[in-house]
Amino acid sequence: MSPSDRAGVVLTIDLGAIARNYRLLRKRVRGGRCAVVVKANAYGLGVARVAPVLARAGSRTFFVATLDEGVELRGLLPDAEVAVLNGLQPGCEAEFAAHNLVPVLNDLGQIERWGAFARARGEPDAVIHLDAMIHLDAMIHLDTGMNRLGLPPDEVDRLAAEPERLRGLRLGLVMSHLACAEQRDNPMNAAQRALFIAQRKRLPPAPASFANSSGIFLGPDYHFDLARPGVALYGVNPTPEAPNPMAEVVRLQGKIIQSRDVDRGQTVGYGAAHRIGAPGRIATVAVGYADGYARSLGTRAFAAVGGAKVPVVGRVSMDLITLDVSALSADQARTGATVDLIGGACPIDEVAAWSGTIGYEILTSLGHRYARRYVGGGA
Ligand SMILES: *Cc1c(COP(=O)(O)O)cnc(C)c1O
Repeated sequence: MSPSDRAGVVLTIDLGAIARNYRLLRKRVRGGRCAVVVKANAYGLGVARVAPVLARAGSRTFFVATLDEGVELRGLLPDAEVAVLNGLQPGCEAEFAAHNLVPVLNDLGQIERWGAFARARGEPDAVIHLDAMIHLDAMIHLDTGMNRLGLPPDEVDRLAAEPERLRGLRLGLVMSHLACAEQRDNPMNAAQRALFIAQRKRLPPAPASFANSSGIFLGPDYHFDLARPGVALYGVNPTPEAPNPMAEVVRLQGKIIQSRDVDRGQTVGYGAAHRIGAPGRIATVAVGYADGYARSLGTRAFAAVGGAKVPVVGRVSMDLITLDVSALSADQARTGATVDLIGGACPIDEVAAWSGTIGYEILTSLGHRYARRYVGGGA
């Protein structure tokens, strides 16, 4: 028996769709320079499988969140540019340099430490001719309204007044991040863009990066020199107010492992939270919150059996959910029948809405207990 047959639940990840999504995004970006964000294990989908596919599709710049993610990615892609969004934590300078990772510098302290490290390394040459200094690559994040990471305006003032703080560094990118990109009409988008344009002018010239997935769809004014999409690569809709332009990447399917007739007045699952209103049939599927099928989906979500949507009734257990399959024929709802949980008739964005969350969290919560099947890797 194959692992997927034993598990009864299979997560299919379409690497070909990820490559197609990358090409689609790159085609939309004015100038066509498009990096990729593969933080959090490529949004939970497996960076070891995903990153090489994106490199083959043409991406040269990869963003991760942490130093450890950067070290792992360097092992997978010896030649890619790898940038670490969470920045340079104290004492990590040598490790960044050893693995040829680019820190996204988020405050003056990080700029000072990376610069001092670069100048110390360059010293022997610099003494002889100043021009021969060995520069280290750096990116700078400007805070334009998130109040999360990046240089706040007063630090930009100081850096603009004292550009020698960047001595020893090769400034490869100046970036900022949109807070409300998925809301096309939110005035915050234009306000952040205006501040970004004003602030970057005050720093030494460098390519600029501004747009995440949704930012790309705000139009060419938001593209600057390098886009940084993440979630859209993995099939989540970057334009929530319009149909999803991306190809579906993730499909979670289970099987009915047991079913039974139920009568009016009986209850289903923990807390007896669902009460049967009329004679019918309940089917059990072996997926639960331990698999990333959130408990908040209980009584709100739907699954699909043979394309027919059926409600998830009762609470989600750790390992199991229960479906009301009364509307299906006995053959449709037989033991062993395949159930679509995420993808297909239950698009990931809909599942996220049922759960009161966003596609990002559904992706990064996907479990590791069931079989993961990668398809389309050659595309
Ligand atoms: C996560 C992240 C991205 C990618 O955002 P998506 O919405 O997934 O496209 C881009 N830039 C920064 C700074 C991020 O943290």
